[in-house]
Amino acid sequence: MLRSTKIVATLGPASSDPAVLERMVRAGVDVVRLNFSHGTADDHLARADLINEISRKTGRTVGIMCDLQGPKIRVGKFRDGKITLQKGQSFVLDAGCELGDEQRAGLDYKELPRDLAEGAVLLLDDGKIVLEVIEVRGDKVQTVVRHGGVLSNNQGINRQGGGLTAPALTPKDTEDIRTAARLKADYLAVSFPKSGADMHRAGELMRASGGKAFLIAKIERAEAVIEPALKQILNACDGIMVARGDLAVEVGDASVPALQKKMIRMAREMNKLTITATQMMESMIASPVPTRAEVSDVANAVLDGTDAVMLSAESASGRYPVEAIEAMDRICIEAEQSMPLNLERDFLNRVFTRVDQSIAMAGLFTAFHLRVKAIATLTESGSTALWMSRLNCGVPIYALTSQTATRYRCSLFRDVYPLMVKYVGHDREQLLAEAEKVLVENGAVGDGDLIVLTIGEPIGKAGGTNTMKIVKVGEHRKK
Ligand code: PGA
Ligand code: MN
Repeated sequence: MLRSTKIVATLGPASSDPAVLERMVRAGVDVVRLNFSHGTADDHLARADLINEISRKTGRTVGIMCDLQGPKIRVGKFRDGKITLQKGQSFVLDAGCELGDEQRAGLDYKELPRDLAEGAVLLLDDGKIVLEVIEVRGDKVQTVVRHGGVLSNNQGINRQGGGLTAPALTPKDTEDIRTAARLKADYLAVSFPKSGADMHRAGELMRASGGKAFLIAKIERAEAVIEPALKQILNACDGIMVARGDLAVEVGDASVPALQKKMIRMAREMNKLTITATQMMESMIASPVPTRAEVSDVANAVLDGTDAVMLSAESASGRYPVEAIEAMDRICIEAEQSMPLNLERDFLNRVFTRVDQSIAMAGLFTAFHLRVKAIATLTESGSTALWMSRLNCGVPIYALTSQTATRYRCSLFRDVYPLMVKYVGHDREQLLAEAEKVLVENGAVGDGDLIVLTIGEPIGKAGGTNTMKIVKVGEHRKK
């Protein structure tokens, strides 16, 4: 059974054993996330090698996403590794403090006091601890504890409502972008961007390092979800991550479900990708089965139209990484089958001005009405497949390409199944015969099935999709 929605799995200690990783891939991982908040460049390069080997061995196209740490603002270290804060006590965040204790904590981002004033609410460790600012004096932020608890070394700090000025790309990120380029990442995820400019900067650094990764903007700051920032960020990236972990802390957890729907809708309309992330199968860190609420969360993200659902700690450090993928796989498939098949109403009102995009839309419309078995798009860059996948037409889209980078990149597109065509000559009939053969060999179609096929003519000229053709499988062999 084909699954339209893709699964992204974060790698970590729980998925380091090659045998476990292979089982995860066989269970349905489409893209792995290398989290640059942990590990060295060599660790990531070794992981990428391993994943490429498993891709070859299993015949699955597993994309690689490098996720930059970004300017996560954190408290420093404590003398005893951790402290316990009591509700109502006073506590100082002090940029000049080296080792913290029950009264004070250091800061890795020394500028933080400048961004704060009396009344600001700080959320530590994803909101588990809440501090209210009483006064800022020089390097010291005087606070009172509103929610207490255990605070350990290097936990993150967010301000409710956003507004912290740390730049989106740190020196470490710049270095990590080079590593991402070296390991030929298919996707680069940028943490905490506030503007389109942050994404442009990441793109420039990527290209300067010789990388070709698609850019994913993690939407996890309050400033990023308001207009015009969100639209500008969307314009400057290839896709977004609904990064619910940090976003919930910044905007309040109750705002996130509606934001998720809005962002996915906007992204699809702008021909961008979406990944829905964080705590999707959280209880599976320690349990072999998900909760009812988690099942609903994954299914609802599918119904919202997300391209991919993501596992974080579940696959990186949990006890049941393979089971978590199996659970996501079956939940996605069932949710997809429940979706009504109709092209969204506004489809007819959209304006297409590019020839290739118009052919993509014509192909989609035709495939939907003729109820063909498959769409096959012969593509160099993957754009045709991307455009077609922005609407739910209920027909699988096979992206046929000789370009390895394109094939891996398509691994994240909803409804799109990348396949390799080896033929690189310019003979139209030979190329079409090869395309049909690849589809039949992969079990996508059989004799007598109808396919909607898009292609650029003359053959071999990039960026020129200008033809749609309806093919009956096996016909040309009869001639
Ligand atoms: P993170 O990003 O896991 O890198 O923090 C995702 C999120 O914040 O939801
Ligand atoms: Mn985050």
